[in-house]
Amino acid sequence: MNQTLVQDVVAEVMRRLGDRQPGGNGGLRAGEDSAANDSKRIEAAKHPHHIGVSIGEFGVFTNIDQAVTAATESQKKLLRLSMTERDAIVKLIKSIAKQKAHEWGKLELDETEIGRLDHKIEKLQILEGVPGVEFLRTHAFTGSKGIALDEYAPFGVIGCITPVTHSIPTLTCNAINMIASGNGLVINAHPSGANCAAVAVREYNKQISAKFGLEAILTCVLPPTLETAEALFQHRGVPLLVVTGGAAVARAALAARKRAIVAGPGNPPVVVDETACLATAADSIVKGGAYDNNLLCIGEKEVFCVESVFEKLLAQMEKYGGFQLNAQQIESLTKAAFKPDAKDGKLHVNKDFVGKDPSVLAQAAGVRIPPQTQILFGETTADHVFVQEEQMMPFVPFVRAKNVDDAIEMALQAEHGYRHTAIIHSRNIDTITKFGRLAATTIFVANGPSVAGLGGGAGEGYGSFSIATPTGEGLTTPLTFTRSRRVAIAGAMRMI
Ligand code: NAD
Repeated sequence: MNQTLVQDVVAEVMRRLGDRQPGGNGGLRAGEDSAANDSKRIEAAKHPHHIGVSIGEFGVFTNIDQAVTAATESQKKLLRLSMTERDAIVKLIKSIAKQKAHEWGKLELDETEIGRLDHKIEKLQILEGVPGVEFLRTHAFTGSKGIALDEYAPFGVIGCITPVTHSIPTLTCNAINMIASGNGLVINAHPSGANCAAVAVREYNKQISAKFGLEAILTCVLPPTLETAEALFQHRGVPLLVVTGGAAVARAALAARKRAIVAGPGNPPVVVDETACLATAADSIVKGGAYDNNLLCIGEKEVFCVESVFEKLLAQMEKYGGFQLNAQQIESLTKAAFKPDAKDGKLHVNKDFVGKDPSVLAQAAGVRIPPQTQILFGETTADHVFVQEEQMMPFVPFVRAKNVDDAIEMALQAEHGYRHTAIIHSRNIDTITKFGRLAATTIFVANGPSVAGLGGGAGEGYGSFSIATPTGEGLTTPLTFTRSRRVAIAGAMRMI
């Protein structure tokens, strides 16, 4: 051990001892408990440069003030570029993400240890479909009194909180949208996905800087902590927050004293009735629920199927790569996958199982599964914790419903009013309409996998990694991050 390393470790231990004083949570990282926090910090102290990112250049900083200052400077330069150049920056980001998809997909999987490599790679490749400057169409009014234009102006520098489930994809999607509309970004990534985020931020800035002279149009802090998140929330140079994450951070953002666009949690239910094509339903549930080991916020989390076709649907699930657990195996898995919390006495998701491969869950269930298994499934009651919690694991519980109204009622309850995503498989347009109206979710998919709601292969429309739910902006686009400005010319400029 060299002397610097010893000093780092001693300083870290002293700091941690300090943190354990009553009421002290100094340095606690957002979204993590103190145990995980401690070990990762020690790791960071041992390997201060283990990602090879030079702090202080190309957008990677140790504090929010520096990050905001640098992003502000670059954002001013961005405004002086033409729309063609802005478009070229956005396209450059998309092409870097695509080109680096394999390398960064692996980097993110290695760091976060959740999800699947094939889908980590795909999530970076599909970013090319995220909307850019083409969304900023001026709205014009002309008439005998002159003309008026409604145009889309940037906010400035936007504070972004990103989740561990899609660290590089979310920051990249945010960057594409926000830079297209003329903004800069400061990103407080999830601590468990912060290194890969910094690698991406640096690479984007390096290439943007070489071609367009902006050194830090998107910035991030290393290491991100609850304090840096709070500093971002409070910073006077940040007029808008965009928060993508679970319930705790959604609440924190909604309580902030500035405007926040919140892409919050979900618990998407699937309703299947007797008119559904059961092969399509099973194929779709597997495709959506198994995607990245069920890390997607829109992914199928629980199924409510009418009794008359319940067994047939389960049989179809096996044809599409599902493996059925029996009641005893589900019980063993549940004991491992949820832990009682001392604070509220309720069962909470055990993070050791979030986003893990089906084989890891199967081991906890006490069963061996074929290697090609995409997802586990099995019958539970509606009040089961796997139904009620947003579990983000490749096990989908199936609940038997007396009829479709019963299925819809249970599905609405399980969605918990998040208004995030709901899915139905039915050929009855009245049933589809009824569930769609009652669910009132931001994304509603009929007769396809949840991912159809994000466009691409399975569905129409564009995609986004920040689906603003409680604040109502929906799938975010460049327009979401703009201020509408009216320019009126009275009595002139109408040429016809
Ligand atoms: P998380 O809530 O643990 O963390 C999300 C981010 O918030 C992280 O950067 C974390 O560090 C930060 N954070 C957590 N608590 C905070 C606090 N009190 N103050 C400030 N920052 C805080 O979520 P996760 O595990 O990273 O991601 C999964 C969750 O995100 C799921 O609930 C999922 O549904 C949701 N999600 C939603 C969308 C969407 O578009 N609506 C997209 C992806 C993920």
